[in-house]
Amino acid sequence: MFNKIIKKLRMFFMKPKLSYIDKSKHGINKLNISENAIKVCETLHKNGFEAYIVGGAIRDLILGLKPKDFDIATNATPEQIKYIFKRARIIGRRFRLVHVIFHKEIIEISTFRSSPIDIKQDKFGRILTDNYFGSQSEDSTRRDFTINSLYYDAREETVIDYHNGIYDLKKKQINIIGEASIRYKEDPVRILRAIRFASKINGSIGHDTLKYIARQKQLIANIPQSRLFDELIKILTCGNAFKCLMEIKSNKLHIFLLPTLEETLQKTDSINFLKTSLENTDQRVLNGKSVSPSFLLAIILWPQVQEEYEKNYKKNKNVYISMVSASDSVIEDQLKVLAIHKRIISDMKTIWFMQPKFETRKNKASFNLLQNPKFKAAYDFILLRAKSNDFDKSIAQWWTKWLESNEEEKENMLKIINKTKK
Ligand code: ATP
Ligand code: MG
Repeated sequence: MFNKIIKKLRMFFMKPKLSYIDKSKHGINKLNISENAIKVCETLHKNGFEAYIVGGAIRDLILGLKPKDFDIATNATPEQIKYIFKRARIIGRRFRLVHVIFHKEIIEISTFRSSPIDIKQDKFGRILTDNYFGSQSEDSTRRDFTINSLYYDAREETVIDYHNGIYDLKKKQINIIGEASIRYKEDPVRILRAIRFASKINGSIGHDTLKYIARQKQLIANIPQSRLFDELIKILTCGNAFKCLMEIKSNKLHIFLLPTLEETLQKTDSINFLKTSLENTDQRVLNGKSVSPSFLLAIILWPQVQEEYEKNYKKNKNVYISMVSASDSVIEDQLKVLAIHKRIISDMKTIWFMQPKFETRKNKASFNLLQNPKFKAAYDFILLRAKSNDFDKSIAQWWTKWLESNEEEKENMLKIINKTKK
């Protein structure tokens, strides 16, 4: 009884106000929606359930961006969904979701969440388990931002909006749904998501949504490191990565993700390198190409590694030892805040260790480089360095030419290099 009153009060203060937006106003072309997502909705409809495409995909389609993936919200429970789809698996514990697996795509389906009254929270107010289901309107209040709480009905081609999300989207403003202070307590990752989406859509953050970032940022320290790592990768692949990093830094959030960023962003050369490299990443993201986490982290941490390397080299004149100790010390500092998979660390180190070898172009070393599975990444890395004047452009061009040459031409190129060195 008491719970029911609280639930009603919460819904009252959250003010979900239903509006239907038709095609002429939202402008989504159904042909730009994944056929698999439409198929999943249709199958759920046929089985008597509601189903809508929701979240980032709708936000991105309205903005004319290509969605990364398509999520669906339904009133079917995870078990019911699993029963309907042959290739489906239930994932997650805190939030149980269903993945329906297609040839080249996974469609994520979530069941409408209920208001958080039955939810288990820790002493900081962070949501621990959340598997209570509710109505679409309740579900809309559980989403993070108004622009992420839009539901697309594929049958009617209408968008269902409870929180003026379309209005915010046109204004390009990020507004959290409900009380910012409570919503950040429930899940502090929302602080980072606010910054990310604002950069992604080149927009701003609404007054309260921003005000409580400064007040509550310390909550980020309670987020599991693996989740923080995932969020960092999302930041770096949001399509406007450099701007997003600058915002992260100006809101003093880098201490939870990339403690060395402050120092890096004090040097013009490092800023140039990060900007050039991240713009290149944005372009890849825009073209739907993959970007590996190890490459991204190798970029972000490189200015620090390079500085340490140069310091060490001045003292010991040994390239290898200098690079090992520089990369170890930078990674050690980074691991204090973020858990990074061993394989990613090893790939980052390989990219870094190969950098001095590109400069020397010694006969044997050149051939050895090519056999390294990380050669392409390390070569792409020197191209970015060359572009931002951090690496000799003529040497970078030499490598490009060398890669395009046949065996005989390669040998001649190496002969010339080795002659000039003598
Ligand atoms: P993108 O996939 O482009 O990063 P997205 O908005 O789709 O952006 P997802 O993490 O895929 O983000 O989540 C899908 C949707 O689930 C969001 O749009 C939002 O409605 C909801 N959501 C995700 N994370 C949270 C969260 N931490 N708190 C509340 N709602 C969330
Ligand atoms: Mg998504």
